[in-house]
Amino acid sequence: MSPVRQLWLAMRAQRGLLVAAAILGFIAAASSVALLGTAGWLISYAAQMPPVLALAVAAVMVRAFALSRSVFRYLERIVGHDAAFRGLTGLRVRVYERLEALAPVGLTRFSRGDLLARLVADVDAALDLPLRVVLPWAQAALVSLATVAFLAWLAPGSSVLAAVALLLGLTAIPWLVSRIAASAEARLAPARGSLSAAVVSTLEGNADLLAFGATGAALSDISRRDEHLTSIARREAAGLGIGTGLGVLVQGIAVVGCLALAIPAVTDGRLTPVWLAVVALLPLAAYDIVATLPSSAVAYQRVRSSAARIADVLDQPLPVQDPEHPMPLSSRETGSLTIECSDLYARWSLDGTSDALRGVHLRVGEGERIAIVGPSGAGKSTLAAVLLKFLKYDGCVTLGGCSLADMTGDEVRRDMGMLGQDSHIFDTTVRDNLRLGRADASDSDMRAALERVHLLDWLDALPRGLETELGPRGSVMSGGERQRLALARLLLANRPILVLDEPTEHLDLETADALTDDLLDLTHGRTTVLITHRLRGLQQVDRIVVLIQGQVRAEGTHAELVAQGGWYAERWAREQEQGDITAMADRIPAGTALVR
Ligand code: ADP
Repeated sequence: MSPVRQLWLAMRAQRGLLVAAAILGFIAAASSVALLGTAGWLISYAAQMPPVLALAVAAVMVRAFALSRSVFRYLERIVGHDAAFRGLTGLRVRVYERLEALAPVGLTRFSRGDLLARLVADVDAALDLPLRVVLPWAQAALVSLATVAFLAWLAPGSSVLAAVALLLGLTAIPWLVSRIAASAEARLAPARGSLSAAVVSTLEGNADLLAFGATGAALSDISRRDEHLTSIARREAAGLGIGTGLGVLVQGIAVVGCLALAIPAVTDGRLTPVWLAVVALLPLAAYDIVATLPSSAVAYQRVRSSAARIADVLDQPLPVQDPEHPMPLSSRETGSLTIECSDLYARWSLDGTSDALRGVHLRVGEGERIAIVGPSGAGKSTLAAVLLKFLKYDGCVTLGGCSLADMTGDEVRRDMGMLGQDSHIFDTTVRDNLRLGRADASDSDMRAALERVHLLDWLDALPRGLETELGPRGSVMSGGERQRLALARLLLANRPILVLDEPTEHLDLETADALTDDLLDLTHGRTTVLITHRLRGLQQVDRIVVLIQGQVRAEGTHAELVAQGGWYAERWAREQEQGDITAMADRIPAGTALVR
């Protein structure tokens, strides 16, 4: 199905309103044509100085058409926009739902700015489909038909010329403009997306760009993209200009031609002279309605390329599908939320790259805390993505005895909460950020959660407490505070199982160690999978699993693994050594010159 058709079907729910808008628009357009025709007849007839009473009906009709033209146009705008905005809301929700289902694994193809352009600008462009393409075209076609039918009765010769001119205005001229605009439009939406991507990444990387003195280069890159966009828009405007010019030419020929063809009819008495003005003015007025179609053709091309970009998101295959018939909750083992993986294979792409997990067997009993450790790239985060049902896998993974394949992603994530490497803090208040964990959490619940993650003092020092705005991505907080706030959010959500994927990854050593201590304190007695490459504090967990190159290479307690030797023991020794060096460095008095 073509993307535009898909878009149109998405607006299908508003069919009734759109038909009503088309009818209202037709009445408004027909009133405009009738107004000019009646006015022409009235002026011609008035020139013959008939009794005033003979003009009364036409005068009333002129007033009625003038009024109805504005009233029906106003109603058409209200009904049409209402339908279009309702359709747009439905479409935006559909795109958002797809993004939600694709996130976090299926969105790597799109940059943040490009996604933003698709969700905002491209979806907004869909508004043009009913308002600037379908409704104007439907009205113009209906009014042309009615005008030609009336002229055929009044002056058959002129009606043929008017029909040809209107047909050109309805089809050939918009088609020509559409061809010129097509190549421009095909490049316009991606160019808009690329400009938006460049602006977003420049804003996001502002600090790094400043630090490396690369702001100038980033800004000139943005202006280059902007110039490119402007040049494409200029080409599109040229197409529209040619279309409008041609339209005026055809309109002029139609008016003069209809008049010329009607004059012999007047001289040989087939047409009353007062109707001559009507024959000339009707094609003029009808063509005014048709004259909007070149810009509809440009709008159509814009909708087409935006529809393709929206379809790109909507048709993007999901990294993991929900089952059509999820297993009912009642048929699951109740009470137990043991996780079991057997012979688990997982890979990120379908293009034949190697498996990130290769035959993993793992059991996490209820209330058990295990740590998954291993070098970078070993597959630890891949395992987290599989457990949270973000990523497709082969083999068997069960939660409380029920296969993950028989559960929806939402169900899995109702039992399992995750704290990642760089938790997202939304650009809103502390309260709203916490309410994402539990919508009905009271202030005292929030304060209690913040106390557990040691953020209560931080909160009390904030000028507006829970009402304090945290800025984009929590910019007013430190990295450690952001992770602690996310942890408080997770605690409020009260998931029975916690997956903590390198939660201290981007923090300095001291902050990371303090957070690790708190995490270990807070997860006592709760089923926890702690993914980490730092081994500090792991004496406290029940079991440690060493993952290397996607395979479980060793398993046991801290003491067992240190005694066993291998990756864990080596890593532990290195960490101890680093700890000693840091402690020594701390003891050196400030200002001591180490190198002479
Ligand atoms: P770890 O968490 O142990 O550092 P990961 O699970 O992140 O390791 O990575 C395992 C493998 O999967 C690596 O080869 C990595 O390149 C690949 N990988 C991880 N995340 C993605 C992703 N989002 N898209 C594609 N490949 C990925």
